[in-house]
Amino acid sequence: MANLLGKVGIITGGAGGIGKETASQFLQAGAKVVLVDLMDEPLQLAKSELQSQGDVHTVQADVSKEADVQNYVKETIDKFGTIDIFFNNAGIEGKVAPITEQSIEDFDKVIAVNVRGVFLGLKYVLPIMMKQRSGSIINTSSVAGLNGSPFVSPYIASKHAVTGLTKTAALEAASANVRVNSIHPSPVNTRMMRSLEEGYNPGQAEEAKKGFAQGIPLGRYGESDDIAKLVLFLASDESSFITGAQYRIDGGMGAQ
Ligand code: NAD
Repeated sequence: MANLLGKVGIITGGAGGIGKETASQFLQAGAKVVLVDLMDEPLQLAKSELQSQGDVHTVQADVSKEADVQNYVKETIDKFGTIDIFFNNAGIEGKVAPITEQSIEDFDKVIAVNVRGVFLGLKYVLPIMMKQRSGSIINTSSVAGLNGSPFVSPYIASKHAVTGLTKTAALEAASANVRVNSIHPSPVNTRMMRSLEEGYNPGQAEEAKKGFAQGIPLGRYGESDDIAKLVLFLASDESSFITGAQYRIDGGMGAQ
């Protein structure tokens, strides 16, 4: 396992499926972790599950709000003095419907969290990492950030934007020795897929799940554990020559 001893990591969406498992692996690798999420109760639940593994702090924040983002950055610095790793991961799936049936509000809601939230995180974390001349940022995009898919246009647009933001941030930060990469999972077994299965196939989510899994060459969804292992690698010094890269973690979907 990669070593994160003494490093401090922020994880947005830290109470969710992928975020919480990644927090667990960061802690086991020796990092101190700040979990950021929308609601306090799931944050406290996550903290109580994780705190036996190491130093966990929580900050309630809406990542789409500038003042909240400034606050989670400030709280991290106040508590731990630095930010070495930033897992910019909070996201929402939005409504499942054709473009013609997506309202402006549906579109703006997804863009606010998935694009503005990722942008604001970069805006306020990068100066700290660039000043200390070290750091690793991992943005959570999706296979939906590299390929189209019907009926989730706001999500697709938002995750393509994360791909672009990642490349641009990597180029802006490289001279300061700060790395920025994106990860691109296929379906992963979390709340988000339960919601999408129901959205695509109301009342027959199990059927939808089978269909999605059949579209993945390895024949199964990813698990949060699979994703966390990749994030841990990208967060650690094991990946010190990797920046601006898009990491598919998709059971072979991208090869089709
Ligand atoms: P999840 O729903 O379990 O976790 C997402 C977390 O983000 C939740 O805890 C939620 O409360 C939080 N969040 C949502 N809006 C927020 C906001 N405005 N401010 C702060 N926190 C907010 O789902 P997950 O699968 O763990 O998703 C994590 C990331 O992985 C997302 O960006 C998602 O788009 C991406 N992703 C998921 C899959 C999948 O199949 N599950 C596939 C590819 C990419």
